[in-house]
Amino acid sequence: MEVVFLGTGASQGTPILGCDCEVCRSVNPKDKRLRSSVLIHHCGTDLLVDCGPDFRYQMIREGANNVDAILFTHGHVDHTGGLDDIRPLNYLTKKPMEIYAEQRVIDALHKQFFYIFDNSTYPGVPKVNIHTITSDAEFKIGDIAVTPIRAYHGQLPILGFRIDDFAYITDAKVVPETEMEKLKDVTTLVVNALQYDTHPMHFSLDEAVDFAKRVGAEHTYFTHIGHRISHDSALSKLPANVQLAYDGLHLNI
Ligand SMILES: [Zn+2]
Ligand SMILES: [Zn+2]
Ligand SMILES: [Zn+2]
Repeated sequence: MEVVFLGTGASQGTPILGCDCEVCRSVNPKDKRLRSSVLIHHCGTDLLVDCGPDFRYQMIREGANNVDAILFTHGHVDHTGGLDDIRPLNYLTKKPMEIYAEQRVIDALHKQFFYIFDNSTYPGVPKVNIHTITSDAEFKIGDIAVTPIRAYHGQLPILGFRIDDFAYITDAKVVPETEMEKLKDVTTLVVNALQYDTHPMHFSLDEAVDFAKRVGAEHTYFTHIGHRISHDSALSKLPANVQLAYDGLHLNI
C-alpha cells in the first residue's frame, strides 16, 4: 500500500491568507500545508480520503490522474470543497465517481453541490455514484476492505477509516473507547493535531500524542496541522515513533 499525503493543513491551510505569524512566513517547504487529504494506492485501486478545495492542484502536483473512489470523513468544506474538480476524471474514465459517506455527509454534499444532485440535464456537472455507509459496517471497494471508525469532532459524529494495517483519522476530538478495538494492531496511524492549545473540535498536539500512545502503532503521523505549529520545532519534541506528516510525503506500508 502506498499513502500519499496530498495535504496536511487545517481548514485555512498554511500559510493563512493575510497572516504574518512566524510559521506562515516560514520558507521551510514542510510548513506549506494544503487542506488535508490522502490518496491511497492499494490492490490496484486508488482511494481518495476527502476531496478538499486544493484537490485539483494536489493531484497535478503528484502527477496522479486516477481516483476509483472517494471516502469522506465528514462534510466540512475543507474536506469536500474540491468535488467539482472530479469532472476531468469523469471524462477520462467515462464513469461516475464512486462516493462513500455517511447519510449526514451526503446531505451536506446535496447542499454544497446542489447542481450535482438536481437532475440537471446540463452535461458538464460532476457525475457521482453514492454509497451510504455507517460506522458499524465494514465495506469493500474493489478488493479493499474498509473499516469505518466512529470519532467525534466536538459534538459532530465523523468517520476515520482503517484499511489493513493503516488507519486515517482526522478532525477528531474524541475516539470512544468502544472503537479502539477496530484500531488493534494498526502499524501506521494518521491522526489530526491542530495546535498546542486545547480546542473544542480537534485534538491538540498533546492530545494527539496521547491518542497515538493509546493506539500503540509502530508509526504515527500527524495531519490537519494548524499554522501555529512549525514542522521542525514540533518534530524535535515528539516521541521517536511519532512524526508530523507534510504535503507530498509518501508512505509505503
Ligand atoms: Zn478539517
Ligand atoms: Zn499564521
Ligand atoms: Zn472538520
